[in-house]
Amino acid sequence: MSLSPSAAFDLPPGGVALVGAGPGDPGLLTLNALRALEAAEVVLYDRLVGAGVLALANPAALRIEVGKSAGNHSMPQEQIHALMLEHARAGRRVVRLKGGDPFVFGRGGEELEYLHAHGIPYRVVPGITAAVACAAYAGIPLTHRDHAQSLRLMTAHCRDSVDTLDWASLAQERQTLAVYMGVAALGHLRERLLAAGRDPATPFALVENGSRPEQRVVTGTLDDLAATAQAHAVASPALLILGEVAALAAQLHWFGATPLGPPPAEPALAQAA
Ligand code: SAH
Repeated sequence: MSLSPSAAFDLPPGGVALVGAGPGDPGLLTLNALRALEAAEVVLYDRLVGAGVLALANPAALRIEVGKSAGNHSMPQEQIHALMLEHARAGRRVVRLKGGDPFVFGRGGEELEYLHAHGIPYRVVPGITAAVACAAYAGIPLTHRDHAQSLRLMTAHCRDSVDTLDWASLAQERQTLAVYMGVAALGHLRERLLAAGRDPATPFALVENGSRPEQRVVTGTLDDLAATAQAHAVASPALLILGEVAALAAQLHWFGATPLGPPPAEPALAQAA
């Protein structure tokens, strides 16, 4: 494959490229991301970055995992900053490889501010964010003339961040919510949306490991959101798509296993005499 050089991408020695790795499928990398990986002398990568993507980096590059997952902060942000600075100041081409897009819930903003403050030259390569990839791989159009006129990207990382959200506007119908890092907060999310007037019959799809061979899609309605996720033991990384459009997964899915539905209601236990 010949990649024509892109004027926007020419990482100098001692520079850092913040690169979006997409959601896992290496086919979803951009050509600029691939060019950056091939030119990298140091790759600082997140845990969410797939092995298939990492394998495309310059074989001679030093690879350092700086990953973190909710509740398991394996490396503090300050240490990631310090590593970028150390390798850049040593004159190396550094790729800071992040899952999805670097500027969507990825702390890319903080990293760029840090590089800027320290006079390190930088580039940013956008990536396909989880909401876009999960929707595509689950057959869910995020907007649709009949079902959704707007899309909200939001996070429900912890109780505190959930509590500061504007629930009246989030509960509007004909709107799609794409919720990042929400697995632990589904019960709270359901409660808040119902209290703000969202229809309990609003469809949802939870996409676990979107775009990866082990992708699972679990569907249901807002009313059974937390119970269904629990019944299927949905685990991180998973993205919640909530809104009228989510119902289309049943018909339009094309990748991986057929979407799983809510578990059948428990039969009532016979009363002991
Ligand atoms: N910058 C990333 C998001 C980082 S936050 C992006 O643009 O996609 C991490 C959250 O993203 C996870 O908790 C999950 O909600 C979501 N996510 C990332 N990759 C995913 C994948 N392959 N499948 C499902 N959700 C994913």
